Amino acid sequence: MTTSDNKPKLTEISTLGEFGLIDRLTGSINVKNPETIKGIGDDAAVVDHGGQCAIITKDLLVEGVHFDMVYTPLRHLGYKSVVVNLSDIYAMNGQPGQVIVGLAVSAKYSVEALEELYAGMLLACEKYQVDLVGGDTTSCPSGLTLSITAIGKAEKKDIVYRSGAKHNDILCVSGDLGAAYCGLLVLQREKQTFKANPDMQPGLHDYEFVLERQLKPEARKDIIEILRKAGVKPTSMIDISDGLASEILHLCKNSGVGATIYEEKIPIDRRMAQTAHEFNIDPTTCALSGGEDYELLFTISQKDYDKIKDVAEIHPIGHITDSGQGENLFTSSGQLVKLAAQGWDALKK
Ligand code: ADP
Ligand code: MG
Repeated sequence: MTTSDNKPKLTEISTLGEFGLIDRLTGSINVKNPETIKGIGDDAAVVDHGGQCAIITKDLLVEGVHFDMVYTPLRHLGYKSVVVNLSDIYAMNGQPGQVIVGLAVSAKYSVEALEELYAGMLLACEKYQVDLVGGDTTSCPSGLTLSITAIGKAEKKDIVYRSGAKHNDILCVSGDLGAAYCGLLVLQREKQTFKANPDMQPGLHDYEFVLERQLKPEARKDIIEILRKAGVKPTSMIDISDGLASEILHLCKNSGVGATIYEEKIPIDRRMAQTAHEFNIDPTTCALSGGEDYELLFTISQKDYDKIKDVAEIHPIGHITDSGQGENLFTSSGQLVKLAAQGWDALKK
């Protein structure tokens, strides 16, 4: 398209947002190799090597966008950068095995600082029994960018996609939601206080739980193991990186279904709710739109319900409906409201 002075009409990225941009850039891609059994559109790509599949995913962490050096210890950043990738492998019901680290770093970082970053990455590699097998390093004009690729494996028959949810399946989440976002709110508040008065010591001791959820999240390897031992293969699964609402919409879109969830069933930790109230935010809003929880959202067939109903870390929050019914939240006050994705979108204004 051209305007009257013949200059091409350019589109601002912010008009599309992250998911719109990915669709625009990748919509015309056709997979050429038969072993590529899942390309773009899930938590990770899947490559079939004759029954055994490789599962591959990448996440970027950019200073000033995903983390603020004022309150992010480098060791924690390193740990988190590995964990968020492993979370996507578990979300496919896979077992992570290797990570590859891309590092772009500016001169403001010392060697010792980068050693701290690597100490954190290696701690995560140790905990999850993953090998750091390569990467690439470059300088950059400012800040720090980490681009980590994780590789995992699974039998083809065991892989769980976003697309398998069926009408009447039960929607479940692991752990509790919203705390990572509350941790971020605390850190941002302390940063402002510190800016106003650098002599102030940060008052963080009351917020250990939410801070840990923000700075040092874990991937739910344990949930994958519990489900396997219980003989339950979820019908669909996704990890919660952008907030529960956004992930439910992804799951439903990919599965061609709708969903109804119940506010009173959303797992919320008391310590998160306390912090949310302090910031005058509804804890449910934190759970729905906060993001960075790295819990698993999955669906199971009703026949499997008895096998998981006593697992403390797994919470049924609703059920899958026809696509015509859309995605809805039944609130504690008895209203039915449409779920909207207001989660983290790095590219929207
Ligand atoms: P997640 O939140 O699980 O990391 P994303 O929302 O980042 O997943 O990505 C959704 C899908 O889009 C994935 O299949 C991912 O590989 C793909 N994707 C994201 N960014 C790009 C890109 N720049 N080019 C090609 N594919 C991309
Ligand atoms: Mg994911």
